[in-house]
Amino acid sequence: MSIQWFPGHMTKARRQVEEKCKLVDIVFELLDARLPDSSRNPMIHEIVKDKPRIVLLNKADLADQKWNERWIKEWNERGETPLLIDAKTGKGVGQISNLSEKVLETKFAARAKKGIRSRQIRAMILGIPNVGKSSLINRLAKRTATQTGDRPGVTKAQQWIRIGKSMELLDTPGILWPKFEDHLVGLRLAASGAIREEILPVEEVALFGIEFLQQHYPSAIQMRYQLGDLSAEPINLLEQIGQKRGCLRRGGVIDIEKAAEIFLQDLRGGRLGRITFERPDEERMKIEEENNQ
Ligand code: GDP
Repeated sequence: MSIQWFPGHMTKARRQVEEKCKLVDIVFELLDARLPDSSRNPMIHEIVKDKPRIVLLNKADLADQKWNERWIKEWNERGETPLLIDAKTGKGVGQISNLSEKVLETKFAARAKKGIRSRQIRAMILGIPNVGKSSLINRLAKRTATQTGDRPGVTKAQQWIRIGKSMELLDTPGILWPKFEDHLVGLRLAASGAIREEILPVEEVALFGIEFLQQHYPSAIQMRYQLGDLSAEPINLLEQIGQKRGCLRRGGVIDIEKAAEIFLQDLRGGRLGRITFERPDEERMKIEEENNQ
């Protein structure tokens, strides 16, 4: 289902997330490991405020392992608690509980000191559409016999899912909007399939993807399509892909849109290998540049 974000929807989404936040001890912020900054809601700090959180880098199976490690380092340096996961197969998901206990250790110990009886950790999942929230909820729920129960919520009763012995998870995630204002962010979101809607023309997105691969993963594109001169213009490579894949219109003209769709399906589905679209150094340089202006 595609979501069109209008100011009214954004206000409503923000309010819903803020209400849910009040019910939990910890927030699991789900990001796409292939583009962690671009898949982050731009107002996350204002919305979540100082609620303890874990940054879950999902779809780590599709991202470049070398850059996965660099991103973990980066998030640690930013003072966050990051974890690489793959909600589809469940890799890393088993560590979420322990990590949550660690993050909340002091808070819960202080409570115990005041004589407040210890209870389960309450948590919620938060992220932009299509980042893997439902997959993660299902994955977590499957680990134990799922029991749900009502707890009074602010607007309606919330359902909680028991996760192991020590945790309860809100059964509906918080959904926030992605960044739209930056064209490059839009291209990364679209190329990776981090957002499902076609917000930009497929041809433009495919050309962006091809150029990125030419620069950073040339052998991936070469191996998949057996192209000739890899230093050719991206449009020429897209034409070659179209030709190889038989994307022809009547009269033998290459159907560029079809070629773009095929290429993007391959890219998004990991058939061109594990690819990371955004690198921490680049982000830091951009921030420094902005600060110097
Ligand atoms: P939601 O909109 O945030 O709830 O996202 P979904 O859970 O519906 O996931 C969106 C798409 O991403 C689905 O096609 C999932 O199968 C896929 N997906 C989710 N997590 C992962 C992951 O860790 N790895 C891979 N390869 N695909 C994933």
